[in-house]
Amino acid sequence: MSTFTELGLNDEILKALQDLGYEKPSEIQEKAVPQVINSTDDLKAFAQTGTGKTAAFSLPILQLLDAKSKNTQAIILSPTRELAVQIGNNIKEFSKYMKGVNVLTVYGGANIDEQIRGLRKGVQIVVGTPGRTVDLIKRRQLHLDNVKWLILDEADEMLNMGFKDELDQVLEVTPDEKQTLLFSATFPREVEAIARNYMHNPIEITAGQKNTGSDNVSNEYYVVTERNRYPALKRICDANPDVYGIIFCRTKRETAQVAENLMQDGYNADALHGDLSQSQRDAVMQKFRNKTLQILVATDVAARGLDVNSLTHVINYKLPDQTEAYTHRSGRTGRAGNKGISIALITNKEVGRLRPIERKINKKFEKKEVPSGEEICKSQLFSLIDNVKKTEVNHEQIDSYLETIYSSLEGLEREELIQKFVSVEFNKFLKYYTNSRDLNVAERERGRDDRGKARDDENMSRFFINLGRKDDLNPGKLIGLINQQNITNNVEIGQIEILDTFSFFELDKNFTDETITAFTDATFNGRNVNVEITEKRKRSGGGRREDRRGRGRRFEGGRREDRRSDRRKGGSGNYDKNKSGKSYGPDRSDRRSADKPDRSAGFGRRRS
Ligand code: AMP
Repeated sequence: MSTFTELGLNDEILKALQDLGYEKPSEIQEKAVPQVINSTDDLKAFAQTGTGKTAAFSLPILQLLDAKSKNTQAIILSPTRELAVQIGNNIKEFSKYMKGVNVLTVYGGANIDEQIRGLRKGVQIVVGTPGRTVDLIKRRQLHLDNVKWLILDEADEMLNMGFKDELDQVLEVTPDEKQTLLFSATFPREVEAIARNYMHNPIEITAGQKNTGSDNVSNEYYVVTERNRYPALKRICDANPDVYGIIFCRTKRETAQVAENLMQDGYNADALHGDLSQSQRDAVMQKFRNKTLQILVATDVAARGLDVNSLTHVINYKLPDQTEAYTHRSGRTGRAGNKGISIALITNKEVGRLRPIERKINKKFEKKEVPSGEEICKSQLFSLIDNVKKTEVNHEQIDSYLETIYSSLEGLEREELIQKFVSVEFNKFLKYYTNSRDLNVAERERGRDDRGKARDDENMSRFFINLGRKDDLNPGKLIGLINQQNITNNVEIGQIEILDTFSFFELDKNFTDETITAFTDATFNGRNVNVEITEKRKRSGGGRREDRRGRGRRFEGGRREDRRSDRRKGGSGNYDKNKSGKSYGPDRSDRRSADKPDRSAGFGRRRS
């Protein structure tokens, strides 16, 4: 492990780091600082937040910066206002003993004139959100022709937030000879494309894989309706006859209920939650550890610290409220070199909750189809055959009956015998799953930003904005503009209508006032932006639709313009297709019976 001095930093920086209490470089700092100081090669760094990456890219820049020149030498792009401000403040702290170093943070939602005045004083390092940075470039207030370093911080997040166009625009106005440093927690296709198109043979470094999921765990999800969550759970268990796993529920009540239902339906399951006495919990855990219990239904709290090495599955009956909790849950499987599967049962409304988890675990979920009755029968059949092969014959007990049995089965061929014996068990499954319905729901398209689906209209406020197609606005840019205002974290955006000279968008109505305030000083391509609340548009009826703002109708040029309706997450079309396009079984009575518990069905693989 090196020291900061060994990384090649000057005394002023070292002193500042000492003030901050930074004793030793973090892993990413140890790798990135000397790399940037000693080479002009582009750098692609895999790093999570919280690993010390701000210092990793700021310190070498401060070391190499020409403080005598007032030109902007470094531009740092960051996805959010908060992060940009934090980076700007950190750099000010790192450079507090350096003379003549100026840093400015620029972001939407703040007074642009003040930022322009700041730029005019001459700043060597600019930290900005993509939208405001582009705005200042277009106004010819931010000049990037002398930039030596371009830093893309949290590149994946910027692309997720719809800033692709802005990144392209900034990248295009910076000199070719600059050094590009790209930091990202994940490297999806879009980030790789940026690296491919704008970086030259980048050096790759990786550091601080904290909070990532185990490589031995594959993450899968099933999209079902709320009503079918439990039947889907049963099918997953049935399709995996040797399942040895934990089903996580969100509440004690839900845990108790799911465990109770599974037990009644013949599964080898039990519950573990905080309302049980210590001795009950110990007894359940004992059974689970020695594998006489196959399925443990548990709350997060109860299963904390549970250390069982050979779990095949973790099933998220409901996703946890905190993204972090998913890693704890899934980390119960895939231990000690074993492979494991972590399953999430979600409704269409919850699809958007997968993306933050994917970012956290740095892995993609694989979509799976709830197994059909036929698939379950097949896996049960082969499991049965496997069990037959493995079963030891207890001669002591059975030998005295064998003579009679042989004579009563006389005349049956070998194949016929096998078929009949296997069918004794198998027919129960065949019967149970006859006419079983398809429990899958077609997933609504995951759009450009998966931070959640647009909600139903009643949860949305509708806004007018004085920009349209003629102002070069499109749905992506409008989303970018909304995101730049930092109204609140993950605010949901609903329908967007882009017209020629003005547009409409819907946003979570809980943030109506914040939205109006956030847009007060906003600009787009040098135009002042005006956002006002409008009446919700009427969806029913075939008549002419009117959009009313507080001050009356607004039809530009007296005619309605052709309109295109876009949902940020691209959802509604697919959803409808799904509703009408799937066959859900012959009739309602069949549907009900197909998943009704049949205690005689015999797939309670109770071992105890
Ligand atoms: P970052 O990933 O840059 O947001 O940094 C995460 C946190 O770690 C911040 O609070 C930093 O101040 C702190 N930090 C970064 N590098 C070091 C270091 N070498 N020693 C101690 N703290 C650090």
